[in-house]
Order: sequence, then structure tokens, then C-alpha cells
Amino acid sequence: MSDRLTHAEWSDAVEDGDLLGQECPDCGKVQGTPKAACPDCGSRGLETVELPSEGTVYTETTIHVPPAPIEERGYQVVVVQLGDARVMGRLTDGEVDIGDSVSVSGFVEDHEGYVAPTFAAE
Ligand SMILES: [Zn+2]
Repeated sequence: MSDRLTHAEWSDAVEDGDLLGQECPDCGKVQGTPKAACPDCGSRGLETVELPSEGTVYTETTIHVPPAPIEERGYQVVVVQLGDARVMGRLTDGEVDIGDSVSVSGFVEDHEGYVAPTFAAE
């Protein structure tokens, strides 16, 4: 995989339970979502990499007043450290704290068709 990762390819992979990222060959930074260029050094030679499906919670928050038109209340959003990348997603059940282990549990699709991974506590 060397062609630049598109958002559609990233989303298809999420729906298959696989998380893809991009590694910068110039500075080594790994991104968890597709970018046109490395946000750190501007390199456009980003390489697609597979991210691990298990990681630890980097930070979390509970959404009590979601943006319209989401009607669900009290769901937890986590940023998960997966290898060298960080990926944001929803927690599917329970609650986690920073540093807890989680793994990819599926995905959610919003009203505009954007997908995001979901995570579950280990
Ligand atoms: Zn870079």
C-alpha cells in the first residue's frame, strides 16, 4: 500500500473493522485519519499503514449535550492511542478512564454517512 489513503478507503476499512493510518516517511509521525500532507512536517509522501486494533485511552469525555440531530445522551467519546497513532471514536458500552485498555468493537455511521470506529473496554 503506497498510494495516498483516501477518506473513502479509510471509511471502508473502518466498516470492515480495520483501522488504517498514515506514516510520514520524513518525520515518522503516524496519523490515525487520512491527511493530504503530514501536519508536522508537510511531507506529501505519506504511507498507508495498518493500526493495531487494541490500544489505551489517551483521553475521554462524556457527551451530555450532543450536536443536532443526535438525540442520544450521555455517550462517551474516547481518543485511543493505537500504536503510534491516535484515533477518536465512541465507546460502545460501560465507561473507561484514561490509560484503560480498549479494542475496536465496530463502527457508527452518522446522519451524513460519516463513519467512526467504536471501542469497548478490554
Ligand atoms: Zn512528517
